[in-house]
Amino acid sequence: MGSEVPFFRPDISEEEISAVVATLRSGWLTSGPCVERFEREFAACVGAAHAVAVNSCTAALHLAVEALGLKRRQAVLVPTMTFAATAEVVRYQGATPILVDCDPQTLNLSLEDAARKLAQLTEGRLPPRIRADLPVVGIMPVHVGGLMMDMEAIWAFAVEHNLWVVEDAAHALPAAMRRQDGTWQRCGEGTADVTCFSFYANKTITTGEGGMAVTNNRNLADRMRLMSLHGLSRTAWGRYTGQGSWDYEIIAPGYKYNLTDIAASLGIRQLARAEQMRRRREEIAARYLEAFAEVEEIELPPTDPARLHAWHLFPIRLRLERLRVSRNGFIERLCACGVRCSVHWRPLHLHPYYRERFGWRPSDLPIATRVWERLVSLPIFSAMTDDEVARVIQAVKELCARYARPTGHAR
Ligand SMILES: *Cc1c(COP(=O)(O)O)cnc(C)c1O
Repeated sequence: MGSEVPFFRPDISEEEISAVVATLRSGWLTSGPCVERFEREFAACVGAAHAVAVNSCTAALHLAVEALGLKRRQAVLVPTMTFAATAEVVRYQGATPILVDCDPQTLNLSLEDAARKLAQLTEGRLPPRIRADLPVVGIMPVHVGGLMMDMEAIWAFAVEHNLWVVEDAAHALPAAMRRQDGTWQRCGEGTADVTCFSFYANKTITTGEGGMAVTNNRNLADRMRLMSLHGLSRTAWGRYTGQGSWDYEIIAPGYKYNLTDIAASLGIRQLARAEQMRRRREEIAARYLEAFAEVEEIELPPTDPARLHAWHLFPIRLRLERLRVSRNGFIERLCACGVRCSVHWRPLHLHPYYRERFGWRPSDLPIATRVWERLVSLPIFSAMTDDEVARVIQAVKELCARYARPTGHAR
């Protein structure tokens, strides 16, 4: 059977290793010339005016909501179907995340439910620990798995309700959507007030840990840059090189979110390969979609001709009514066959903190509550071999056949 198929394996070239080594030998390790170049090239790649490199997407999201002025006694619409980071940065500012249900197919935020949640807030029908008089100031869409939401629809909603938009694009590099007029818009190309990307170890490009906030708004970019490094008037690179002076002033109590040159030297090369790595994932997705098209025990992730899909994840949904095994049982058995899977995600409202702090109940977000129990993310990464893809396909098909519930039809 060969060795195990991991859920993810990083795709790091020899050239990338050499670039990191060269930085280690260069005499400058923290934020400096490599970070400046990474920011410039990243902004050009996604079509944004400004890019601020930081040490995680979480940091980027935090800087974004801080720069937009988020504070206590305000609320933000956040999808329940996301990773911890999207909602926790709202809590960092002392504000309240209002959780929004997802679309059952794409798993992306449902604007229909967002409108419902706004109405329920004013009617005092949200969980009792969410005050009905909170002004809702923003919305934070997440492109789950790298399939972009319709950002034109998000903007129409945001304008109607006077909201800012911060995009959690942790899965969406590179990704794009076709506008109403037929032209393509890249994720980050003015798609939000601030768009935040992740370079965590298993994201579509990596710097080990890292992130980027992009925006077309100079004031937001300046504020995020200032707050990313202790609120200092000048960076160390600016102070210790060229015409720089040793002196600086503290403008605000900022954070320690800057990216290192070690990380950026890896990021520059990964960025140059981002589309090539995406194409490999697209190829793998195409093989899964074809191989599983007739497998009645599972539902496949949607595709859309109006989207360039980043394919960070390949989430299938089990038809549990057709299977004699639970989702967790399915994952355990795949693991026993040598295929490692994951789940994205247990929705936020089913975690103790959000349940207890705000009083969310499973029935407040019924679609996410039901769908997450059926979710399985299959391995999809650019370094995956054809043999590994074939083994995943074989293992999933075999399990579905073995645990299929007789339906009365000939199979
Ligand atoms: C990974 C992830 C993040 C956090 O990224 P970090 O770079 O690890 O901070 C945020 N949101 C989503 C949807 C993610 O998947």
